[in-house]
Amino acid sequence: MATVAVVGAGVTGLVTAIECARAGHRVCVLDRGPVPNPASTSADQHRVLRVLRPDDVDGTVRMAEARRRWSELEALLRTSVVRPVGVVTAGTAEELERAFGTAGRAGVPATAVAPDTLPPVLFPAGTGGVFDPGGAVLLADRFLHAAAAWLAAHPAVTLRPGCPVAGIGDHRVRLTDGSVVDADLVLVAAGPWTAALAGPPVVLHRQTMAYLRPPRHLAAWWASAPGVGRIGPDRRAWLLPPGGGALLKISSDAVCREVATTAEPDGEPWADRLLAEPILAGAEAYTVVAVRDCHYAADAGTGGPVLARIRPSVWARSACGGSGFGAAPLVAREILGTIGNAAVSKANDKECA
Ligand SMILES: Cc1cc2nc3c(=O)[nH]c(=O)nc-3n(C[C@H](O)[C@H](O)[C@H](O)COP(=O)(O)OP(=O)(O)OC[C@H]3O[C@@H](n4cnc5c(N)ncnc54)[C@H](O)[C@@H]3O)c2cc1C
Repeated sequence: MATVAVVGAGVTGLVTAIECARAGHRVCVLDRGPVPNPASTSADQHRVLRVLRPDDVDGTVRMAEARRRWSELEALLRTSVVRPVGVVTAGTAEELERAFGTAGRAGVPATAVAPDTLPPVLFPAGTGGVFDPGGAVLLADRFLHAAAAWLAAHPAVTLRPGCPVAGIGDHRVRLTDGSVVDADLVLVAAGPWTAALAGPPVVLHRQTMAYLRPPRHLAAWWASAPGVGRIGPDRRAWLLPPGGGALLKISSDAVCREVATTAEPDGEPWADRLLAEPILAGAEAYTVVAVRDCHYAADAGTGGPVLARIRPSVWARSACGGSGFGAAPLVAREILGTIGNAAVSKANDKECA
């Protein structure tokens, strides 16, 4: 049995803690706020899991695996956290052909969707859709609470809310009160704040999302609607359908911007810009219930997600955009697979922050 210290109780930290506890390890989860923390990136009504990556066979295979893991997590937690409504991606004829080729090579199902079968959604001119039936909406807040409850009841797990971490060393976590948690393996999953503690440099992004209530006459249609991506005038918008207690959510990469810190104030009316995007037919009939900003971090070099093993005993995961929620079980499995060889030399405990 190894001891695992997890810094951050977002989806990455909680899924990793569950996998480690199930594998028989002793786990301590630390968060500066409550567990789960409503200020985490993960805290939201819903997130999407896309299995089909239209131009990426390996990525599609990986996300099909992630989708299976989510079904396992749902069964373990005995809570409905996956809405299996599928995801439609808009594309030109050429893009759709590539997407079907990818689906075939990855061995996942995909079917064509005509835009007129999704009348409330505005498809860009000249595009159709590919339906990814494995895609799903993940009920994020519901999962976070169920995961925290499962962990709280597990005899090998200690949850430590209200514990801000000041530094990470080999095999150790140093809290702001000066106390230290020793572990065979440390995961720093502090979201967009990870790089401040450990890991490679990142670029911070902020994106605005709007939460809408559909008009009453469309409520039944939306109840079984899929997620839809690559819509809007520049094909950078997406929507997540309402259901399972969640509202309809829209956003676009057009309202994603780089920021220096998560606290930096905005100088532009990003919500107005998002709400002006042509995403929904008859948008004026929808009620805007809330608008929210959310942050993610991308590798400063590649622009991609960051999962770095910065020491034999220390992993760092910054909150990445796009698939960071859905891919959390893959991150957990990768880290779990290294636990045996992480319990090596505890000699080098020089601190990195
Ligand atoms: C606009 C937007 C839309 C997205 N949509 C999707 C989507 O549809 N599908 C998808 O899969 N992904 C999506 N993502 C990405 C996904 O939400 C994130 O990658 C994921 O939630 C990150 O989870 P995490 O656990 O790594 O970090 P977080 O959820 O941010 O958790 C980090 C935790 O660490 C704690 N912490 C931070 N610093 C310290 C410290 N010093 N000491 C102690 N605790 C600390 C925080 O309190 C927090 O609870 C989206 C991201 C954005 C920004």
